[in-house]
Amino acid sequence: MKQRTLAIIKPDGVSRNLVGAVLSRMEAEELRVVAMKMIKMTKEQAKGFYRVHEGKPFFESVTDFMSSGPCVVLVLEGDDAIRRYRTLMGATDYTKAEEGTIRREFATDIEKNVVHGSDSEETARFEIGYFFNALEVMA
Ligand code: ATP
Ligand code: MG
Repeated sequence: MKQRTLAIIKPDGVSRNLVGAVLSRMEAEELRVVAMKMIKMTKEQAKGFYRVHEGKPFFESVTDFMSSGPCVVLVLEGDDAIRRYRTLMGATDYTKAEEGTIRREFATDIEKNVVHGSDSEETARFEIGYFFNALEVMA
């Protein structure tokens, strides 16, 4: 089943020059880029994006982090893309992530974990619409 998911290369990934390496891993897994741009979120925009985490102990810190520098936001398309891209990312805590995953390979911290991926179809719809308008996502 063809699906779309929202991916972010987080500020740590961009500042550490990992954009190309992460994109290569996505494309190698047959996830196709159908939208992509670089943005720098304000604190308010980061809070809106991670609003499901409002009230959690890491909310202030993660929204500071996500607004600390440019991110690359992308829409990836592929068969079962949401689940397959989550698998490619690895666990939130990189020390628990499977060998060969993006986070295991590149993350340095539970917060600074290089990439984001939508966790459900409903989340993907919200997150794609949060960053992209219809003209920016390929038909
Ligand atoms: P993401 O939503 O970014 O793809 P995820 O779904 O693996 O990651 P979430 O539980 O949604 O994890 O947490 C969102 C982000 O908040 C994490 O990716 C990480 O950057 C940060 N985060 C989550 N848990 C913690 C924690 N215990 N301490 C610090 N930061 C955390
Ligand atoms: Mg999440």
